[in-house]
Amino acid sequence: MQCPSSSLRAVPPALTVKPRLLRHLLLTVLMLLLVLGCGYAGYLISEKFAIAALTDSGERQLGLHARALESEISTHTYLPSLLELESGVSQLLLNPSEARRLKVNRYLEGLNRRSGSRAIFLLDLGGRVQATSNWRDADSFQGEDLSFRAYYQDAVQGKPGRFFGVGSTTGEPGYYLAHGLRQRDKIIGVAVVKVRLEPIEQRWARARLQAYVSDENGIIILSSDPALRLKSIRPLSEQTRTRLASSLQYHWTRLDALQPLARQPLDSNTELLTLAANPTQNDPTQAVSYLAQTRRLEASPWSFTLLSPLQDVRRQAISQGVLAAVAVALLAFLLIAWNQRRKVIATRLAAREALQQANDHLERKIAERTRSLRASNDRLKAQIRERRQAEETLRKAQDSLVQAGKLAVIGQLSTSIAHELNQPLAALRTLSGNTMRFLQRGALDTVTSNLATINQLVDRMGRITASLRAFARRADDGGEAQLGKAMDAALFLLQGRLQQTPVQLHTNFADARLAIDQTRLEQILVNLLVNALDAMQAQPERQLWLSGQAADGVYRLQVRDNGPGIPLALRKHLFEPFFTTKPGEQGLGLGLTLSASLAVAAAGSLAVQYPEAGGTAFELCLPLTTPSPVESPTDA
Ligand code: ADP
Repeated sequence: MQCPSSSLRAVPPALTVKPRLLRHLLLTVLMLLLVLGCGYAGYLISEKFAIAALTDSGERQLGLHARALESEISTHTYLPSLLELESGVSQLLLNPSEARRLKVNRYLEGLNRRSGSRAIFLLDLGGRVQATSNWRDADSFQGEDLSFRAYYQDAVQGKPGRFFGVGSTTGEPGYYLAHGLRQRDKIIGVAVVKVRLEPIEQRWARARLQAYVSDENGIIILSSDPALRLKSIRPLSEQTRTRLASSLQYHWTRLDALQPLARQPLDSNTELLTLAANPTQNDPTQAVSYLAQTRRLEASPWSFTLLSPLQDVRRQAISQGVLAAVAVALLAFLLIAWNQRRKVIATRLAAREALQQANDHLERKIAERTRSLRASNDRLKAQIRERRQAEETLRKAQDSLVQAGKLAVIGQLSTSIAHELNQPLAALRTLSGNTMRFLQRGALDTVTSNLATINQLVDRMGRITASLRAFARRADDGGEAQLGKAMDAALFLLQGRLQQTPVQLHTNFADARLAIDQTRLEQILVNLLVNALDAMQAQPERQLWLSGQAADGVYRLQVRDNGPGIPLALRKHLFEPFFTTKPGEQGLGLGLTLSASLAVAAAGSLAVQYPEAGGTAFELCLPLTTPSPVESPTDA
């Protein structure tokens, strides 16, 4: 057997997904994407605005702190030039002696103390320290050659020496302000003031300010975070490195480049900077993001950078993003709910409409059906009328047939009736002749006896004619019959035949009152008895059984003979009208048909039986009239 091709191409059940489910899945994913997208957009917008606000406030702070820084730096700007006014200083530089040095040292010491600077010292034209405020200290600069220092080199050329550097002796960072000391427009030495900048950092720390200052080389010289100090904000070229190393500006510091984890320039002076929380580990998970705003400081080649942490901004942006996502999710949920409700309402409306349509359809159908029922009712009424008419016609025909049947029976019986009447008539003739003779002789006794006999004979003849009249009379439906009386009448009618052909009669039935007209019952019995007698005619010993019993409101009477029975081929024709096997005028073929129809008309039946012992039996069933006085126990 070959499989249908479609079944071969069928998709395995596991791979088939209901389109509705797929749509829901897609919708859910889309909703999720929308919510996430809106949340992210909310986050970005909020961050953008917050950064803009932070930039504004940062700009103000930047200006403020830059000015503070500038004033801090410029506080000592004129200090080195003041030494020009001190005659001891120029004398020492022009004619150095220990006494002058001591004097200038003391002077510088006092000046340094008063000005709050870190150190003040004098260099001769060769760059060697001639006098210094820290002449008493172990790490005094006295006698040191600082000609390699850039501030010296600038100052000796008449330019202001500005320099951040790490002290070559102390290793201590500081801001060096140098000034070429002149006498008669000739530089005779260099005065240097070293200023400590740590107080600025301390102030920042107190103010929780995050900032740094980078110098002209891009090296962070001041920082709120000590880890950033002396880092280069941009990678240094090899040339710069060599130059800085040779000048020992930053002592022997490695000057590593500051390596932010992320850097996003916003404009020329602003950028987003992500630094590792612990710069030595450079761990990206421990990152801190800043808004870095930079500004050049006036009066110095330095830049001041303010770092504003973005932590709060980001946190706020995240909550705004979450808020936006929640709002969108809520809106989406409301939209879905509204859509669902709209669908439910639409479905309800559609269902109501469908119901209405079905209702209308049903009503139309009912109307149609009612019309057709009415029409068929009319047809049925017409048929009933026709049936009634047919029944009426049939009943009339039946009556006529009954009548014809009766007459036929009478016709059949006419010979025996004539014989029956002829006998008494002949007897009457003889008796009346004898009586006249006996009257003439005066034998009155004999006359009286003869007259009595004559009387009896006349009575008998009257009874015969009366029964014939009763048999021939038309009867109505309904009525009541006495079984015993009907049986007597039938047997009486057939008396002649019974005498001609003697029959052994076995009766075994109780009398009963039956719901059928008396003459109709008589007619049925006469028909059955005539048929039995006809059938047994050729039998040497004729036996007739009349038995009956009442049960369940019905009386069953059996008329059985020991005749030859009915051949198998003829049995189905028995109750057909005009079916007869009797020769010539003897049979009309109406007896059984009429008897059966009379029984049915009285709500009973007539059926034939074929006893195994032979012969034929007819069973007549008729309803009993209630109550039957004959069947009552008192009459039993
Ligand atoms: P008919 O007596 O005029 O022939 P019936 O209708 O009374 O009409 O009977 C039809 C036929 O049924 C009879 O001709 C006879 O052949 C058969 N028949 C009726 N009763 C008996 C019976 N008791 N025994 C044998 N044959 C019978």
